[in-house]
Amino acid sequence: MKALSIKNLKKKYANGFEALKGIDLDVAAGDFFALLGPNGAGKSTTIGIISSLVTASSGSVSIFGYDLDAQRAQAKNCIGLVPQEINFSQFETVHNIVFTQAGYYGIPRKQALINTERCLKQMQLWDKKDTVSRRLSGGMKRRVMIARALVHQPRLLILDEPTAGVDIEIRRSMWDLMREVNRQGTTIILTTHYLEEAESLCRNIAIINNGEIVENSNMAQLLSRLHTDHFILDLAQPLAQAPVMNGFDIEWVNENTLNVAVPKTEGLNKLFAELSLQNINVISLKNKSNRLEQLFMDVVDANKGIAK
Ligand code: ADP
Repeated sequence: MKALSIKNLKKKYANGFEALKGIDLDVAAGDFFALLGPNGAGKSTTIGIISSLVTASSGSVSIFGYDLDAQRAQAKNCIGLVPQEINFSQFETVHNIVFTQAGYYGIPRKQALINTERCLKQMQLWDKKDTVSRRLSGGMKRRVMIARALVHQPRLLILDEPTAGVDIEIRRSMWDLMREVNRQGTTIILTTHYLEEAESLCRNIAIINNGEIVENSNMAQLLSRLHTDHFILDLAQPLAQAPVMNGFDIEWVNENTLNVAVPKTEGLNKLFAELSLQNINVISLKNKSNRLEQLFMDVVDANKGIAK
């Protein structure tokens, strides 16, 4: 069963800008899926179309088999959306915010109360239910957004940059909550530019750039394809320029620092052997970027030349 199926989806905005150039995307039921891309890539446009906030120019979207144009109400019922910006009233209580949302989906009062309690407990907000939302911390406000999106028991939860701007500790605790929601059977699609977030949470991933899907695969496979590690070396003695070394791409940062790209096929031992041959001593070495970040740059670079 597909939670989401997108075919040849295009979006041209009124100013003529082509934000989506015909994307295809499938997300299986039960998946935890990452949609990744730099700013302006088309992530929000895609999510906006899926959640009926933006009208597509052409193409089709179906959600759990419901066509978004022909069966819009059923399709919409399957979706819970957590937008980027916190958009509930700052003056309402946490309980009210979530409970009211259930009303928009026509859920009877008794069931709405049950759902509200379940979602607030799930997001660890039950003890805050009577708190006026402006008194909540940033992380709690984000959790209210998720509780509200879950109140009508959607089969697909869409999270648009759910942890933007929250600190790392809160982010990690939110990851645990999201994992649990997924474990209980809700399909999740997440957009993020915290690559670590996608790596930690998601099983499958699509990378979008300039309105095109440039990569669509499983996270483990994608990571295993990564062929280069990047390191920053601190040198014991100053160097006036980058040394030349077979098999390694070396960039001179300053007289004490080099950036080195190490192909997986070469390995660090070979690098150190080469360095010692040239009497270069290294005090310390650290990974320049997270693996997924590097992969992301490789994929986007590789696709830069594609003109449509
Ligand atoms: P992302 O979410 O990946 O940052 P968006 O989907 O928001 O990207 O935007 C994709 C592109 O479409 C960007 O270049 C953006 O400037 C443009 N865009 C977004 N909304 C509009 C709009 N209402 N009118 C014109 N261009 C838009």
